[in-house]
Amino acid sequence: MLIVMRDHASQAEIDHVVEHLHEAGAEAHLSQGEVKTVIGVIGDRELIYQLEMDGFPGVTEVIRVLKPYKLISREFQAEDTVVRVKGAVIGGGAFGMIAGPCSVESEAQMLEVAQAVKQAGGTMLRGGAFKPRTSPYAFQGMGLEGLKLLRAAGDSVELPVVTEVLDVRDAETVAEWADVLQVGARNMQNFMLLEELGRMERPVLLKRGLSATIEEVLSSAEYILKGGNRDVILCERGIRTFETYTRNTLDLAAVAALRQLTHLPVIADPSHATGRRELVEPMCRAAIAAGADGLMVEVHPDPQHARCDGPQSLDVPAFTKLMECLRPLVVLEGKRL
Ligand code: PEP
Ligand code: MN
Repeated sequence: MLIVMRDHASQAEIDHVVEHLHEAGAEAHLSQGEVKTVIGVIGDRELIYQLEMDGFPGVTEVIRVLKPYKLISREFQAEDTVVRVKGAVIGGGAFGMIAGPCSVESEAQMLEVAQAVKQAGGTMLRGGAFKPRTSPYAFQGMGLEGLKLLRAAGDSVELPVVTEVLDVRDAETVAEWADVLQVGARNMQNFMLLEELGRMERPVLLKRGLSATIEEVLSSAEYILKGGNRDVILCERGIRTFETYTRNTLDLAAVAALRQLTHLPVIADPSHATGRRELVEPMCRAAIAAGADGLMVEVHPDPQHARCDGPQSLDVPAFTKLMECLRPLVVLEGKRL
């Protein structure tokens, strides 16, 4: 249920409603704009259905939401969520460019990529330390050592760092070293992990599952917001279809649809979506045109020898060229990079 307060409702009126909801055993989540306050009511469906909120002072409208998500919806919050992490901003017109290798491999590799990403105008540095690999025999990432190298590389060029957290057990450790916690496609419906990240004070980059519907992506994001963490970035990274020429199929309609349905920033990852470096630039351009708030691209100083995802990784000159080509398109879309 969404309770819309009248314009400039007093704090006392808002508190009164919230108190009543708490007494009834429901949770109240506030979206407080300068003029409008909307209160999202979360709790047992039956209980909420019976709540009579229409007559309360200051309440103008009560909307019964049937969708399985509320807090992430545009109805709850019309304005874009702006995620700020260190100096980087994403959402609300600020375009985020996340770049870096699939996995952290060495100090030299990370320092070189960090320099290149910074110099070309990237806004965040990525690098996997805990890698979700299809084969248990493939390189699983450097773990804690990798987190430390990522952190040091990010610090050396003053870029915030993004890395994946694979398991609830690692959440605290990863949060200690990283600025943004990535939930990978294979973990999008790991509800325990989502709940844990909802309780943490770190922005979350939530990637779409390999065969997740738009509604399922939104429901997963709802888990994180429900826990109190409102800094969530959604990422379209390609879905599995019958096509095998590309690694996945980049669903650009999902980017546009998500931008309409939710106030959360939406980015695209053409590297994992296509699996082919020659398709990264055209798909970056297309994602910007579809309304993406940012991109995530894999960059490696020596893609031929990358321990993971080399065929989809750009080398440094290609990434620098990519940034030059994308900048005017971002501006054309009315965003800042
Ligand atoms: C990644 O970004 O490193 C990654 C493993 O992506 P995905 O979870 O989308 O496969
Ligand atoms: Mn990868």
